[in-house]
Amino acid sequence: MDGQTLVVVLSLVLSLTAIMQFLLSRLNSDVVGLRSWAIGCALIAGGVYANGQRDSFAMIMAGNWLISAGHVAMLVGVRCFRGLPGHAVPLLLLATVMTASLLLLPEIAAQSSQRVVIHALTLGVFAAAIGFNFLHISGFATRINAWIFFLDAGFQIARSGWALLHPSTIDVVKQGSLTPMFSVLSIAVIFTVANAFTLMVSEQLRDELARKANHDPLTGLLNRRGFDLIADKLFAATQRSPRPLAALMMDLDHFKRINDGFGHAAGDGVLVAFARLVSSHLRDGDIFARMGGEEFIALLPGCDPATASAVAERIRAEVGLRAAPPRVTVSIGVATDTTGRTEVTDLIRHADAALYQAKMEGRDRIAIAPPKDEGPDRKPIEAF
Ligand code: GH3
Ligand code: MG
Ligand code: MG
Repeated sequence: MDGQTLVVVLSLVLSLTAIMQFLLSRLNSDVVGLRSWAIGCALIAGGVYANGQRDSFAMIMAGNWLISAGHVAMLVGVRCFRGLPGHAVPLLLLATVMTASLLLLPEIAAQSSQRVVIHALTLGVFAAAIGFNFLHISGFATRINAWIFFLDAGFQIARSGWALLHPSTIDVVKQGSLTPMFSVLSIAVIFTVANAFTLMVSEQLRDELARKANHDPLTGLLNRRGFDLIADKLFAATQRSPRPLAALMMDLDHFKRINDGFGHAAGDGVLVAFARLVSSHLRDGDIFARMGGEEFIALLPGCDPATASAVAERIRAEVGLRAAPPRVTVSIGVATDTTGRTEVTDLIRHADAALYQAKMEGRDRIAIAPPKDEGPDRKPIEAF
């Protein structure tokens, strides 16, 4: 494939990538920066095409500017994604000054190798800035993106250095500003780079979806699904290195009356306040979830029976101290496994049975499940 065909194909592929990203940004209008990235792709597509028109100095200059401006748009996109100001105007001004400097210095403009030195250096700096911004966004794909851009920056700087040290190998009129090796590399880099943002967005959307699926929107706690996932992992870890595990099953008392007497919104407020209060009594590594309605569970790894009861009692007492109406009380069932061998589901069943006992005994109290095999299993809470 000759150089000109390569330029057309590359710019066509980049244009299609830009169109796909525009469509994606329309579908995900809340993803900040995606449109700017799409604009960046479109500008680079135009720049690659213009740069390929080797017989026109104006087109080469226009191409250089478009490619620099494309990098600026990408930098602005990733900065906005991070929640930072894009600084589009000063950055674009910088790109323009860099390109214009080639025109203002005729002795440089006349020597294609020196144009490459300056242009590639500009791109290298922008690519490094983009990589640096990616580095500050969490996610595996995003970290890979950061390194792709650092690679791109290194590649551009190498290109600049090559043009500086071997000016005779650079002849923009005949073969373009790239040696064949750089041509192949630059195609690979441009194409990977163009798709980097989409990769990051899809990773972030996946994580956001998983977070939403596993969390309760009202309290921000894990929901039952999220709890089950983490509890399974915890059980597997406890199997590997046995240690005590305590479960606190908590249910707000007569919650229906709160809703009926003060309204659903007040009920919601109580649920949020309760979640916050309990969280303040738990340690890092404890698992706390809203199992549904006004029912919550906490799993306390490494917690012995006496400590588990003390934590439960502190929570109960503090909930009852709440001064402002509506008055709220909580019943808590506590179950502890000291062997490290009880299945989490069994432990929860025991905590459920203890909670049922606390309700039966008058509410606003804690009840301790008898150690395993010491007493009959009680009816689970779902039964009432
Ligand atoms: P008990 O002491 O026996 O637990 O009585 P209770 O009234 O707390 O239990 P019941 O299961 O009869 O009622 C639970 C109520 O919780 C009924 C339901 O409307 C309410 N509820 C469930 N989810 C929410 C929620 O997200 N917000 C609010 N405000 N109320 C909720
Ligand atoms: Mg209740
Ligand atoms: Mg309930």
